[in-house]
Amino acid sequence: MFPQKIYYEEKALEYSTGKQLKEKYKDKEWILIDNHNNIPEMRSKENREFAVMKQSLILGIRKTHKYTPNFKSSDFLVPWTSSGCIAMCLYCYLVCNYNKCAYLRLFANREEMLDKLTAFSRKSTAPLTFEIGSNSDLILENTVSGNLPIVIEEFARTGRGRLTFPTKFEMVEPLLNLDHKGKTVFRMSVNPEEIINTIELGTSHLLNRIEALNKMAEADYTIGLLIAPVIMVDDWKKKYSQLLDVLEANLSQKVKDKMFIEVIFMTYSYVHRAINNEAFPHAPELYSKEFMVGRGRGKYWYRQNIRDDGEEFLKSEITRRFPSGEIMYFC
Ligand code: SF4
Repeated sequence: MFPQKIYYEEKALEYSTGKQLKEKYKDKEWILIDNHNNIPEMRSKENREFAVMKQSLILGIRKTHKYTPNFKSSDFLVPWTSSGCIAMCLYCYLVCNYNKCAYLRLFANREEMLDKLTAFSRKSTAPLTFEIGSNSDLILENTVSGNLPIVIEEFARTGRGRLTFPTKFEMVEPLLNLDHKGKTVFRMSVNPEEIINTIELGTSHLLNRIEALNKMAEADYTIGLLIAPVIMVDDWKKKYSQLLDVLEANLSQKVKDKMFIEVIFMTYSYVHRAINNEAFPHAPELYSKEFMVGRGRGKYWYRQNIRDDGEEFLKSEITRRFPSGEIMYFC
């Protein structure tokens, strides 16, 4: 049962989040650390222990608050209340940043992050969109911290512009009755069920994700559908056509009328291969020499001609089923 252990910085317990977690997990083992970025006990573990490492919770203070300009579904990527995640998607982009230490780190200083963001948002001349979910899955984090309803309502009350985050999880109940004032954009990431079961380990099933998206549309959030990451496994065109059939059959009319769509092809890396081969030796191989090409710093992505073909195929399959769904971008 998560978490098996909690590594914590002493200062984190001075914040309300720290106090609340200390009480919530009072029966767990708590281990004092100097710095959430450097836990010698964790760094010395083998790649094959990756799944066990994911069972730990790290509680610290976020010290870096630098916003990075973004040109996709937001204006800025904002470091938020967590980085890392309990789930274990075999391609998880966080592994590129944190290597095997991609476990859930929760940052207790939520109030400081919110104050900075709302002040920043009010200073801009035009309303901006802030991506707060680029380092974690905030719906999953919320099951541990309870942060998200506070963040959504506080930003609605004092911020300008919009928050946005993607998720692969269904636990949206705590968000359904919030006073969000239309200032939060909720994006659900989907993949064929077979890919969810074999590659997106520990995430919600497709039909549950669809139901969550339907509920969020009913709760009047602005909503997006992320077909991501597209993974070119055997028969991938057939699998993604079937995914679109499932979406067409199960998304509510409200979602179909309101949603925008993003499509992202998978990026993979040398680090993923090293960890996955040792931690998940029976998992599907995601690297393909035939389909992929180097993309700097040990990363791989699909060759341009393959991406072009994939884009053309998906564009036509999507627009045939969802003529009013705006495809914001392919990347
Ligand atoms: S749910 Fe998102 S953050 Fe978590 S492992 Fe999967 S890709 Fe990474």
